[in-house]
Amino acid sequence: MKAGLSSRAVSKPKVAMAVAAHPDDIEFYMAGTLLLLRDAGYQIHYMTLASGSCGSLKYSAAGMRSIRRAESKRAARILGAAYHPSLVDDLEVLYDLGQLRRLAAIIRRVRPRILLTHSPEDYMEDHTNTSRLTVTAAFARGMPNFRTIPPAQPIAGDVTVYHAMPHGLRDQLGRRISPGLFIETTGVHGVKRAALAAHDSQKSWLDASQGMDSYLRIMDQLSLEVGKMSRRFKHAEGWRRHLHLGFCDADADPLSAALGSRSLTLSSIAPDWWDYTTLDDEIIRAAAGLTPEQMVKLSGPGFKVVLYDTLEEFYLAEALEYINAWRQSTPDNPVGICGPIGPTEQLPLVARIVNDLNLSIQSAHFWGMDEWFLDGEEVPVDHPLSFERADRELCFNRIRGELVMPSHNLHFPKADTAAYRKSWEGVRCAVMQGGQGDVKHWAFNDPPRREGKYKDEPPTPAEYRQLPTRVVDLHPLTIAQNARTSGGGNIALVPTKAISVGPAETWKAEKVSIWHAGMHDNPFGQRLTTFMISNRLADTAVPMSLLAEHGNVQFNVYRGGIGTCEVQMH
Ligand SMILES: [Zn+2]
Repeated sequence: MKAGLSSRAVSKPKVAMAVAAHPDDIEFYMAGTLLLLRDAGYQIHYMTLASGSCGSLKYSAAGMRSIRRAESKRAARILGAAYHPSLVDDLEVLYDLGQLRRLAAIIRRVRPRILLTHSPEDYMEDHTNTSRLTVTAAFARGMPNFRTIPPAQPIAGDVTVYHAMPHGLRDQLGRRISPGLFIETTGVHGVKRAALAAHDSQKSWLDASQGMDSYLRIMDQLSLEVGKMSRRFKHAEGWRRHLHLGFCDADADPLSAALGSRSLTLSSIAPDWWDYTTLDDEIIRAAAGLTPEQMVKLSGPGFKVVLYDTLEEFYLAEALEYINAWRQSTPDNPVGICGPIGPTEQLPLVARIVNDLNLSIQSAHFWGMDEWFLDGEEVPVDHPLSFERADRELCFNRIRGELVMPSHNLHFPKADTAAYRKSWEGVRCAVMQGGQGDVKHWAFNDPPRREGKYKDEPPTPAEYRQLPTRVVDLHPLTIAQNARTSGGGNIALVPTKAISVGPAETWKAEKVSIWHAGMHDNPFGQRLTTFMISNRLADTAVPMSLLAEHGNVQFNVYRGGIGTCEVQMH
């Protein structure tokens, strides 16, 4: 169910509305975002469904109702928001038809494009019922047969619903909730605080029972804690977007669009890049907690995790993938393998097995995955870091002349990628092998830079998968890692660009086999990509996770290299 094109062609004023349960809930969870939306040109609306009637030990419900109504109006004025009166008393926010009809009438009149409300899971039912009523009232905005009280004309057009953080940042069962979106509120925190202070009856009550300004300090702590979760902002509010179905386009995110880059987590290592430090904390925590046994159990259709107890078995199995691929090759039906530099330990074993078995591999092919790029071209074969040289010296030069494939069946990527790309046509690639680097790449398919079109959001998996073999800029983590593994840590020695086999070629390979010896990536990295592929969390900030969409992927893991993510000081 989507609004038709015609409804969107009409330009409407930009309207955002916050619907919360109690007077002061908006100030606690939503007011910073509302203020920023107002600054971005939105009309903003303020409504709490309950009157605040229970917020006192000494006043009557009627007395409280009128005190808190006056306070809420004052707070809305400070925020610059249109005020809407409450519908019911405290603890009487119920998911019932009467309340739904009345709220639906208001939403039809206000016509919000952005609708902010409570978390669907929260510590008390007034909050969760407010969330449900708001969602359904918005859902019914365009349905002529849903009767509102008072009657209001159905409206066309999209609305995007965002849920605030729950009270205490946990759901009603105590589980932590991570927002998908952070809005920095540091710049408007003072105004947000002034609006909260307008709820004088609550402030006095808490100040008297818990010390001066404790009311305001609770709100300070909450926004500081969300700021800390963002790893970027001092004060922040967290949001999760309601599923789009029935509300808006799949990719509609008017809150991010209005508030721009202020709404997104930056990499904590390299702010100009996407990488795994921009992921949700929830993914990071779940991955870090995996035991080796749990990792193996993450095998499923299209994704297999295989553990090896010894390094000998590990590298032998890796070498045998070459042999098994090449044994399928015939002159009419040539077969090849695409292989990594890192690990390289399997390469001499491959040569030894071919020689000992007298295996003719003359029709077989090999593709190198990558090569360094320096001064506008691929590094020459005599460069000390040349990958082609390593492949030749460690493997192909060691295979007896009468067995080895002719040189034109060996394909190494060059700065001019045309010939290499063409070599992928007409030859079956039985297996593409890879290692995994610190930045969670295979070959040099690093995460993208955070620039231009990808400043606020990394490319989609579908976009990334189109990338062919190409010259790439390397993420700072990759540069540091290659200096460590190939240059004694001398970063000045390592090129900052490389030529990498593309995702486009990777998806031509019948199988992708990744070898985790525990030396290239670390205990956390091995867990993270295993977790993401198994749970089909493809995200271009973690390129290896895109293999979730390949359909025949094997992770080969050396048990001694899995380690642990527990803190150990060295
Ligand atoms: Zn509340």
